[in-house]
Amino acid sequence: MKVNFNVLDRQFNMYKQEYLDAVVHCLESGWYVLGKNVEQFEKNFAQFLGCKYCIGVNSGLDALILSIRALGIGKGDEVIVPANTYIATVLGITENGATPVFVEPDEYYNLDADRIEEAITERTKAILVVHLYGQAANMNKICEIADKYNLKLVEDCAQSHGACFDGKMTGTFGDIGCFSFYPTKNLGAFGDGGALVTNNSKIAKTLKMLRNYGSEKKYYNEIEGINSRLDEVQAALLNVKLTHLKELNSEREKIAKYYLTHIDNEQIILPQIREKADHVWHVFVVRTQERDKLQNFLAEKGISTQIHYPIPPHMAQCYSWMGISKGRYPVTEGYADQILSLPLYNGMRIEEMEYVSDALNDYM
Ligand SMILES: *Cc1c(COP(=O)(O)O)cnc(C)c1O
Repeated sequence: MKVNFNVLDRQFNMYKQEYLDAVVHCLESGWYVLGKNVEQFEKNFAQFLGCKYCIGVNSGLDALILSIRALGIGKGDEVIVPANTYIATVLGITENGATPVFVEPDEYYNLDADRIEEAITERTKAILVVHLYGQAANMNKICEIADKYNLKLVEDCAQSHGACFDGKMTGTFGDIGCFSFYPTKNLGAFGDGGALVTNNSKIAKTLKMLRNYGSEKKYYNEIEGINSRLDEVQAALLNVKLTHLKELNSEREKIAKYYLTHIDNEQIILPQIREKADHVWHVFVVRTQERDKLQNFLAEKGISTQIHYPIPPHMAQCYSWMGISKGRYPVTEGYADQILSLPLYNGMRIEEMEYVSDALNDYM
């Protein structure tokens, strides 16, 4: 049997007619940028999360860049960020000329709240937390620290659409929540897309201007903005998918539960779930001593896996100017050598889950 890491057409086919109708309707409307579909999606997504404002943009990275910019953070300012994250989180900081300060992860792969305070200096302006792999970070503690030190709080929710901490949606804890709608995300579009959410009307107004050349009124440019608009076709598709996000997430949970109950091998460390945290299983990450050996073993059986992520941002070539040497963040670097993401996607069949679980149990 062949099991791919992701099979995106299966989730398209689940609601195919709804998607097709939405796209045709949009194309027939004659309005393709910043129109009714985007407006409707912004309203729907804000309502889904339980917050006041949503601003659609071009990508998750743009959302992150604009979040830092809208908070007035730039050169000379420090932002606390998990060392264990996708590089986009860090680019959101460095694109603004600000300095990322890395903090090691806890056993749930998320920002270790107990290590934040030692990273705070008089230059620290914000904490940029990530709800990695689909599981909410320790938001009780992180919000407490942000309050105590009067720091801004931004959430990277690119992997956590619909995940809650203590019943509250990720993205609504801090000043700004940033989302990506890249096709493989839990709420994936059929192309690039992203959004920012906030409860602050002033921030919302700034973000709306920033994404559209710094103007509120066409051709009256108040601030230096960029072009980062969610397009109408993607918004129309996202409006359809959002109505199914709960069922899509619970299907992911079923697959994860299957793995958690069927994979039983001393060589393999399964993911843990934090008390009060929801997990929407953007990816199912296991750990093992000889990761490459396991990955090859599975590949020989036709099972594709991925590594999220093989090189932590502080070790990326593009950040060699930071001068951080190997060994500086041992927990993160250790994870990077041991983690492996198993196939988990909407539309995955029971035979496929069984085949993957059996293969993992056969591994020695
Ligand atoms: C996908 C992702 C992003 C970037 O989103 P794009 O839409 O691809 O720009 C940012 N942060 C995390 C954690 C992600 O997984």
